[in-house]
Amino acid sequence: MKKAVVIISALVVALLGALIVYDATLNKTVSESFFAMNTLVSAEVTGISAKEDCEEIENIVSELDIRILSRTSENSEIFRINKNGGGEISGKTAEYFSLLLDVCEKSGGAFDFTLGGVSDLWKFGSNPVIPDEKMLADAVSHSGYEKVSLDGNSVSVSDELIIDFGASGKGIALDEIKNHLESSKTKRAVVAVGGSVLLYGDGEFTVGIRNPEGNSGSYIAKMKTDACCVSTSGSYEQSFEKNGRIYHHIIDPKTGYPSENEVVSVTIVSESGLLSDALSTACFVLGVEKGFGLADEYGAKAVFITKDKKIIPSDGLELEITDNGYTLVSR
Ligand code: AMP
Ligand code: MG
Repeated sequence: MKKAVVIISALVVALLGALIVYDATLNKTVSESFFAMNTLVSAEVTGISAKEDCEEIENIVSELDIRILSRTSENSEIFRINKNGGGEISGKTAEYFSLLLDVCEKSGGAFDFTLGGVSDLWKFGSNPVIPDEKMLADAVSHSGYEKVSLDGNSVSVSDELIIDFGASGKGIALDEIKNHLESSKTKRAVVAVGGSVLLYGDGEFTVGIRNPEGNSGSYIAKMKTDACCVSTSGSYEQSFEKNGRIYHHIIDPKTGYPSENEVVSVTIVSESGLLSDALSTACFVLGVEKGFGLADEYGAKAVFITKDKKIIPSDGLELEITDNGYTLVSR
C-alpha cells in the first residue's frame, strides 16, 4: 500500500513537471530585430514555434522587399514596372495595386503611389535638398495615379512616372506576417516594421503614440486596443530645416512640396496593415476633417495630433494622455 502511494506520488510529480515544461515551451517568448525595407524591424513572438516564427518574419520582410516592393532591387516587380512602363505582375501584387488605386481615388489624389520621381528630387533618406522649381513641376506633371491602369495581372503606366510603394510597403509586410502567424502556433506577437505595428493574438495591447517633438522613445498618449494594425505618419520622421522652414517627406501630390496643414502626425488603426499604412499617409495630407471622412469610409479609426497640440481620436478609441502639454479633444 505504502509502495503504491509512493509510486502514484512520483507519477503525479513527474506529470506536473511535464505539464510545467510543456507550458513553459508553449509560452516561450523570443525577440529579435533586424534592418529591412530601409527601416528597423522588431518582433516579439510568444508561442511554441516562436524562434522559427522570428526567422520566418525576417524571410517574409526581406523577400517581399527584394521580390516585389523595392525600387532598387533589379529582381523586384516594382523595379521592372518602373523600367518597362508596366508588365505582368503576380496575383498578390495585382491585389496591392487594386487596393492602393482605391485609396488614391477615395482620397481624391491626396494619396498617390506614383510620386517616386518627385520624392527622388527631395533626396529624403540621403542628403535632402530643396529641388529646382522647374524640375519639381516637371516631375509632378509626369506623376498621377490616373496614368496607371490595371487589367487582371497586367499593369501599364502611361508616362515617365515612378511607382513608389513607400507609403504602404511596411503595412503590406504586416499583412504577410499576419498570414504566416495564422498558420503557425503563435499565441501572441508584436511586430513593428518602422512606424507600422502588428498586434497579434488574444487579449489587450497597449501602444504608445509618439511625441512629435521628442525622440523615438517618447510618448504623449497610450492607446488600448485588441489585435489590429497601427500605423503612424509624422512630419518628424524624415525632415530637414532650411532658411527657418521645415521640409518633410510626405508630399502634397498637387504641388510636389511637403504637405502643409494643421497636422503633425496621424495614427490609423485597422485590421489591414496595407490600409493602416496607406491611410496614415493619406490622412496626413487630407488634414483632420477630410482625413476622418476617409478613415470612416474604410471602417478605420484615426488619431490626429495637430500643431497646436491637440490629440483628436475617432470615437471608440481608448486613449490616455500621458503628456499634459497636449489636450484631448473630441472629434
Ligand atoms: P509614410 O511614412 O507611411 O507616411 O510614407 C511616406 C513615404 O511615402 C514617403 O517617404 C514617400 O516615399 C511616399 N509618399 C510621400 N508622399 C506621398 C503621398 N502623398 N502619397 C503616397 N506616397 C507618398
Ligand atoms: Mg503610410
